[in-house]
Amino acid sequence: MSEVLVVVDHVDGAVKKPTYELLALAARLGEPSAVFIGAAAEGDAVAEAVKGYGAEKVYVVDDAQIKGYLVAPKAEALEQLVAKTSPAAVLIPSSAEGKEVAARLAIKTSSGLITDAVDVQEGGVTTQSVFAGNFTVTAKVTQGTPIITVKPNSAAPVEKAGAGTVEQFDAVISDAAKTAQIVASQPRQSTGRPELTEAAIVVSGGRGTGGNFEPVENFADSMGAAVGASRAAVDSGWKPHTFQVGQTGKTVSPQLYVAAGISGAIQHRAGMQTSKTIIAVNKDEEAPLFELVDFGVVGDLHSVLPAATEQINAR
Ligand code: FAD
Repeated sequence: MSEVLVVVDHVDGAVKKPTYELLALAARLGEPSAVFIGAAAEGDAVAEAVKGYGAEKVYVVDDAQIKGYLVAPKAEALEQLVAKTSPAAVLIPSSAEGKEVAARLAIKTSSGLITDAVDVQEGGVTTQSVFAGNFTVTAKVTQGTPIITVKPNSAAPVEKAGAGTVEQFDAVISDAAKTAQIVASQPRQSTGRPELTEAAIVVSGGRGTGGNFEPVENFADSMGAAVGASRAAVDSGWKPHTFQVGQTGKTVSPQLYVAAGISGAIQHRAGMQTSKTIIAVNKDEEAPLFELVDFGVVGDLHSVLPAATEQINAR
């Protein structure tokens, strides 16, 4: 069975959930192998983490020549790994960086590229939601090695024992790939909540909050959810742009999306309509979002959310 390379999403060796989701999808296409580009000393710990999710092999690519630069050295390392392993596909998390690495890798290997897939089936058939969610496309790469980026929360991680055999891979990084250096990078201040695009539950507030996000945040915290916002809330200065869900914000695909005081404009839907279950709280029963939801609550969010929070916290 051919290998399927899964690029590990991690922060300083701490493996993030999308990696496990990609491993579950990779198992549909062949034998999952994780590719850890990071400090060589963290390779064993990463292998320990991913082998519980079916990774048979873990390629450890020491990032000594990679991490001080933007994405070109990463793409070069992956190109060399693809040449060595001839994988059935390469799966990469759909982050901004992941998509750029994927695009460069596709060019370097003369391969087809599919970005922002929300599903990958046997045979490499992918599903994408495009044009602000107005179309669902099923597509398949027909040239080279399929390079596929997959949105977070597109699959449930599957716990399954893999061998997790560690193999060091020495990539040779050219000077040409080292032309864009990172001068400084600062981690975003943690809110203590899950990352918006990775959270299993997202609770978003809109103009209907009137700028008071407390009910939205308390409700989110009662369920361990991330907090999002509509553009109207962001444009009003109630939340920074990093919270925005939608066409010009982030795309989320959680198990549960709760929209409070959000009308459901097409540009907002574009960022959340692939959520598995959608609940809206809106005082206007004609709000367009009610057409899309699984459950709708007609009411004032300032009373509905605190009541729901109280019930959940009482459990
Ligand atoms: P509104 O449309 O004003 O809706 C507020 C809702 O709150 C209403 O339905 C109202 O009934 C309800 N409400 C009021 N008070 C309460 C209460 N007390 N309790 C319960 N409900 C209440 N929008 C995005 O969100 N994300 C994007 O990325 C985005 N990108 C865009 C890109 C372009 C090019 C354009 C043109 C627009 C974009 N927009 C985006 C804006 C989008 O068109 C809408 O204007 C925006 O989504 C509206 O936000 P809202 O639903 O919070 O506000």
